[in-house]
Amino acid sequence: MLYPVKEMFLFKKKDDLKEHISFLRSHGKTLGFVPTMGALHEGHLSLVRKSREDNDVTICCIFINPTQFNKADDLKKYPHRPAKDIELLEKAGNDLLFMPSTQEVYPPGLVLDLQLNLGSLDKKMEGAFRPGHFKGVAQVIHRLLDMVCPDRLYMGQKDFQQFAIVSHMLEMTNSAVDIVMCPIIRESDGLAMSSRNLRLSRKIRDKAGIIYQALCLARQMAPGHSPAGIQKLALQKLDLPDFRAEYFEIVDGDTLLPIKQFDEAKLVIACTAVWAGDVRLIDNTILKKTQ
Ligand code: AMP
Repeated sequence: MLYPVKEMFLFKKKDDLKEHISFLRSHGKTLGFVPTMGALHEGHLSLVRKSREDNDVTICCIFINPTQFNKADDLKKYPHRPAKDIELLEKAGNDLLFMPSTQEVYPPGLVLDLQLNLGSLDKKMEGAFRPGHFKGVAQVIHRLLDMVCPDRLYMGQKDFQQFAIVSHMLEMTNSAVDIVMCPIIRESDGLAMSSRNLRLSRKIRDKAGIIYQALCLARQMAPGHSPAGIQKLALQKLDLPDFRAEYFEIVDGDTLLPIKQFDEAKLVIACTAVWAGDVRLIDNTILKKTQ
């Protein structure tokens, strides 16, 4: 198959990137920004494509942010394959790629001044199991937005809690950036695409579609059954050898707190984190959405 390959600019230094962005701005170009940690797949590329539809220029960033890993081992094992990522981004028509070093994002002596009250948003789910994770995420997105100054920021529903926290951060900092949520891209068996899937053994990968099946079960049962009843059955479905659900929560999409009844919230999401062997996977689905 032939792909239309176009030229992409690669920046490693923020000053070079900023200079190029000023040039684009002086020509009235609109900018869409897609921050990632690399090991790219169709999920990431769907964000790039959406940004290309909405903006004149798309900027993708690949930066494995150390401050959002609460376990050193997880950071060490995070997949890193820049050559393949560059090829994929070129094929997807991405315009600029920013690949800074850790020192470039966090120069020695830098004072991180983002003080954010996340309220209930980081108390449950990922926030409860990965202490400090969202502080690190908010911090790095804040730093990167300062460098890129885009019109729009593209993030996946796959990390719904992250999306909610970054939206809150933009609101709290009176940011002019529009955040756009993009749908979850899945493998043919429903497993949400994730860079972490690369670490699954064949045996576990073959069974990992069970996570999506548990979410589909929740969708079939809602809203006729209680959140507690749905949670119980979903957890039973996830109770398989090699798999261990860390949580399966049915939450108000605005506060991210668990609900007891479906009529308590306008937006209701089922969110789960599951250990598949030694790989921790997250996924979610919308159970109710009223305008
Ligand atoms: P990451 O590289 O894991 O930090 O992800 C970068 C961005 O891609 C985040 O906004 C994610 O929510 C989004 N993303 C990751 N996986 C998917 C997926 N399967 N479908 C849609 N977006 C995704």
